[in-house]
Amino acid sequence: MTYDRLVCANCAAPVSEGRCPVCRANRERLQQENFLSGLNPMALIALLAVLVAAVALLAHQTA
Ligand SMILES: [Zn+2]
Repeated sequence: MTYDRLVCANCAAPVSEGRCPVCRANRERLQQENFLSGLNPMALIALLAVLVAAVALLAHQTA
């Protein structure tokens, strides 16, 4: 989701410009959401890698 075109209800300027505290708070929140949504697939891949490594290690130990 992009916030480039969001207009602030407080100062009527684009939120991305961060002209007032409301803008800055919204911009920070949206950036955090973007960051988290970008992070989740990476976290899943990392978790999968850890699981595969654990299974490989267990298989190696029992063999
Ligand atoms: Zn504003």
